[in-house]
Amino acid sequence: MKFEYAPAPESRSIVSLRDWNGLFIGGEFVPGTGGSGVFKTVSPATEEVLAEVTSAGAEDVDRAVAAARAAYERTWSVMPGRERGKYLFRIARILQERSRELAVLETLDNGKPIRESRDVDVPLAAAHFFYHAGWSDKLSYAGYGPSPRPLGVAGQVIPWNFPLLMLAWKIAPALACGNTVVLKPAETTPLTALLFAEICQQADLPPGVVNIVTGAGDTGRLLVGHPGIDKVAFTGSTEVGKEIARTCARSRRRLTLELGGKAANVVFDDAPVDQAVEGIVNGIFFNQGHVCCAGSRLLVQESAAEDVLAALRRRMATLRLGDPLDKNTDVGAINSAKQLAKIRTLAESGDADGAQRWSPPCVLPDRGFWFPPTVFTGVSQAHRIAREEIFGPVLSVLTFRTPAEAVEKANNTPYGLSAGVWTEKGSRILWMAGRLRAGVVWANTFNRFDPSSPFGGYKESGYGREGGRHGLEAYLDVH
Ligand code: NAP
Ligand code: MG
Repeated sequence: MKFEYAPAPESRSIVSLRDWNGLFIGGEFVPGTGGSGVFKTVSPATEEVLAEVTSAGAEDVDRAVAAARAAYERTWSVMPGRERGKYLFRIARILQERSRELAVLETLDNGKPIRESRDVDVPLAAAHFFYHAGWSDKLSYAGYGPSPRPLGVAGQVIPWNFPLLMLAWKIAPALACGNTVVLKPAETTPLTALLFAEICQQADLPPGVVNIVTGAGDTGRLLVGHPGIDKVAFTGSTEVGKEIARTCARSRRRLTLELGGKAANVVFDDAPVDQAVEGIVNGIFFNQGHVCCAGSRLLVQESAAEDVLAALRRRMATLRLGDPLDKNTDVGAINSAKQLAKIRTLAESGDADGAQRWSPPCVLPDRGFWFPPTVFTGVSQAHRIAREEIFGPVLSVLTFRTPAEAVEKANNTPYGLSAGVWTEKGSRILWMAGRLRAGVVWANTFNRFDPSSPFGGYKESGYGREGGRHGLEAYLDVH
């Protein structure tokens, strides 16, 4: 028997959509000056214009960096850690109190299912502030000397896939360590960062400790190249990451980069099939596959391939694609027309290279940006869909016979952010984990995040770690 779901939309009335014609500088929303303009942000599910937002120019970035510098020198870096911690706790509590508003706004602006923004993005963002609030007065015990100093003003640039969560990953450790920040959210998803600015006001955070400058790539370029910045933290594409590394190499500025990935999710023939299938689905269809650590390459042991793929197709047929505000939706909208075009191009290269494409029957809405959950079989290592990051709901399946072959194929990528291993054998998990060249290796699970666990990559996935004790190092003057 097949059950139909009634629509279960989350109300959007909790969110007040207004034009955010202002940048958050020195604790106030202020108009842009000089070369600034405005841009529109849309809901990717409907193409409805949600708000007009200020595009910050050079003068605006100057003002934001100056505000962050003044706050660093006068208040934040001289305030005892236990006092800083109180502000971080307060922000964490307000994130929880306003969680529904944040989740609805994130889903509207980004296109991700409300189930994910409500149950993953917002709670994890709050957890990052709680966790780092705890470190604020314990930095002398973090293993970086008796009295580690902050770096100064951090310039932070984040992507559109987890807008509020990436903001939390950047701002919470910076503030806990005594730095002040200027952050630029992505052009297509600026709204939760602006709501976060309001939360900073509500928490009475001293003016200038957090500054938000909205805009596109040019604003990001102005920020990371600004001479008043002591530290740059970037999450986004490898291409832009390389440009930023070149810019920072010309100065004494410290840099951490969290870039792309092409993770292998390795399934051995002794793995429980249904559990592994849940992990494969979560690995590549969570957040429409807009995940740097997505398990976008399934490596399945040849003897189990048929069973695993049959179970995967059955499971994919139950995924519900559609209105991201519906509480039953599993797969939401692709974030932008540009990203949709990129996914289509790469999927077409899979067809042209001779791989077999399969998607479950699914009706795509007429408006907005959509791509169905897709799996390619018959993929070889030379195919573009096995090498390049698609950043969409597209899985490439390869097979292997021996553990050694699995390791070799998994590591055959310029990236090294994450990997997954599915097997009943504990010894095999340890054997694999020691050989996989990836910053995070998940065993019998995937896409699990915790603020106490460091996250980051090898090779073209970047350098530096975010989260945990290791993540503090990126914001302390310890070299
Ligand atoms: P991107 O261009 O690297 O964007 C990341 C952030 O950097 C955004 O805030 C972006 O601003 C800003 N930016 C762009 N050019 C810049 C520059 N020259 N200097 C400083 N900042 C700059 O990534 P994207 O174009 O959004 O996505 C492209 C691909 O990157 C994706 O298909 C995916 O493969 C990868 N990606 C990876 C991650 C990750 O989590 N590692 C996240 C997102 C994307 P605007 O958004 O306003 O342009
Ligand atoms: Mg948007």
